[in-house]
Parts: sequence; C-alpha cells; structure tokens
Amino acid sequence: MKYKRILLKLSGEALMGDQQYGIDSERLMQYAQEIKEVAALGVEVAVVIGGGNIFRGVQAEEVGLDRVQGDYMGMLATVINSMALQSALEKLGVYTRLLSGINIQQVCEPYIRRRAVRHLEKGRVVIFGAGTGNPYFTTDSAASLRAIEIEADVVLKGTRVDGIYSADPEKDPNAIFYSDISFRDVFEKGLNVMDMTAFTLCKENDLPIIVFDMNKPGNLKRVVSGDKVGTLVTM
Ligand code: UDP
Repeated sequence: MKYKRILLKLSGEALMGDQQYGIDSERLMQYAQEIKEVAALGVEVAVVIGGGNIFRGVQAEEVGLDRVQGDYMGMLATVINSMALQSALEKLGVYTRLLSGINIQQVCEPYIRRRAVRHLEKGRVVIFGAGTGNPYFTTDSAASLRAIEIEADVVLKGTRVDGIYSADPEKDPNAIFYSDISFRDVFEKGLNVMDMTAFTLCKENDLPIIVFDMNKPGNLKRVVSGDKVGTLVTM
C-alpha cells in the first residue's frame, strides 16, 4: 500500500445518492464496504463527512436565521451522517470510533488527538464528526486540519467526478483533465479543489490531496494502493 494512514473526506451530498435530501442506504453501505476493504489491508482510515445533505450554515442566513446558529446546525448534521456511517461499518463487522468536535457524550467520544491516533493504531476506523467544532469553517477544512493533526499521509477527497479539470466537465466538453497538479497551479488557475482555508492548510503543511471518484467501486482501494486514479495535488 502506498499510503499507511489516510483521511477520507466525503461530502454529505454524496450520501443522498439520487435522493434530494437525507441518506441513501445503498450509497451508505457502498461507502462502508469500500472503507472496509482498505481497512482490511491494514491501512489506518480516518473519515470526515460533510452535512450538506441535511443542513448548511448558509441556508440559515437565506431564511433570515442566525449564521452561527446555522453553522452549529450544520455541524450537528455531520454528526448524524457520521453516526449513520458508523452504524453501516459496524454492520459489516468493522470496528469504529466516532469522535466529535462538539461534545455529545451520549452518542460519541469527544475529539482528543492522542485518542484518535491510538484508535487508528489499533486498527479502528475513526470518524471525525462535527467538523472543526467552530462556525465559519467547512468540513473540507476539518478534513485538512484533522489530517495534519493525526499525521495522515494524504487527504483523499471522494467526489462524483474523476478528478480535477480545467473547467466543469459536466458543462464544458473541452475541459482538460489533470492527473497531477501542483498547489501553485491549482491556485493560479483558480481551480476548485477545496475551499481556500482547507486548501491552504494542506499546502502549508505539505499534505498531498487526491481528488477521485468515490462512486466507482474499488476506486478507494486503487487510490490507496498507489494506482494512477484521480488527480494528485502536491508541492
Ligand atoms: N460547519 C461548520 N464548521 C465546521 C464544519 C462544518 O460550521 O468546521 C457547518 C457549516 O455550516 C457547513 C455545514 O456544517 O455548511 C455542513 O458542512 P459542509 O458544508 O462542509 O458539508 P458538505 O458540503 O461536505 O456536505
């Protein structure tokens, strides 16, 4: 395996499958299965899931509610998704721990870095819920931050496109695919990989990012094995 410890970022929206809202059970089980396969190879797996399938902070503002309140609602949405993934993994016999950036002791452990690392060393899949625990951030930032904290080898951003293009491939047939790209080029070309805070954290800490299609069965394993799948962003 090329990577020994990974941080997998999944968006909340991806969990919807073909639905408009919420969690699609088939998609959830598919992701759990993919994660199980790489964990079985001895790879230490940490996961951050978004909450966009349930609630985003900006939605609160749109309807005249308080933004910060909305962000906390979004963070709680990520806990719901994390609990669903935890349950799906457990159904497949995978040992997991859910650590939350907001204390909710009845349902999960608090986020403590040393504890997270210990769980990983013991082969448990660690899910980080509630993002960074702070409003005005995103789960992409949480993924970068936690990955740096636990000294992950790479951030794997699982999406529904196969990597980074010069333009949106769903809209522009002439979009060019990049299999490798530098942080600097992503920045200079104004490409959309992660939000700037998340991206800068990776760049400043020399943490590679791979953007790949998570919906293609077996892809996660291929990426972790070092196969040329998706787009690798490095120094
Ligand atoms: N959020 C936050 N701080 C964080 C992570 C998330 O305030 O550290 C809130 C924010 O409102 C965000 C929502 O939680 O819109 C859901 O996360 P995100 O939009 O990143 O989910 P995704 O787009 O990956 O589904």
